[in-house]
Amino acid sequence: MKLILFGPPGSGKGTQASLLAKKNQIPHLSTGDILRFKLQQDDNFAQKLSKIISGGNLVPDTIINPIVADKLLSNDCKNGFILDGYPRNKDQSNFLIDFLEKNKLDIDLIIDFIADTNTVKKRILERSKIENRSDDNLEVIKTRLDKYFAETQPVAAMFKAKFKEKFFEINATQEITKIQYDIENRLKNA
Ligand code: AMP
Repeated sequence: MKLILFGPPGSGKGTQASLLAKKNQIPHLSTGDILRFKLQQDDNFAQKLSKIISGGNLVPDTIINPIVADKLLSNDCKNGFILDGYPRNKDQSNFLIDFLEKNKLDIDLIIDFIADTNTVKKRILERSKIENRSDDNLEVIKTRLDKYFAETQPVAAMFKAKFKEKFFEINATQEITKIQYDIENRLKNA
């Protein structure tokens, strides 16, 4: 099963991706998690990444595209994957579509998590009490949301037009279990 998830930060796509990954035994490829893991290395690259991420800005495509390509070609992904947080802009989207075509990888479902700004802000602030993320504060949340609506939402719209039958919009303000239930139902027909 190959899935792509879209949705603003705090829309709950990471939570659903984890649940789906466990249930279907496929990797949850969160580019945010992959990048945060790289921050643990105490080198120049990590310092550069840390500045970008804690400011809520996007890491350059030249860094993230090859990371994703490597992961998708790895043995872990031979039975499928859940892409969470990628693609995030037009360049990444072109790269991914080209990559999938070249490698004959067919996406089964694209899920767009729809949630209003107030709900996601509230959720991110709640999360900040539990996880200690440098980018979960009000000022940076604003930048991340602005980036999402300016750069990522148009990409989701493009995927919606290109993959009409495979595109599923979910009301992400619902309870976790209801979202999970709706996604599982939709996957039965994927
Ligand atoms: P996330 O956990 O998906 O909210 O990502 C956290 C941060 O990691 C983002 O605000 C970006 O700085 C960086 N990041 C994650 N995914 C990408 C991506 N696809 N392209 C560029 N930067 C990314």
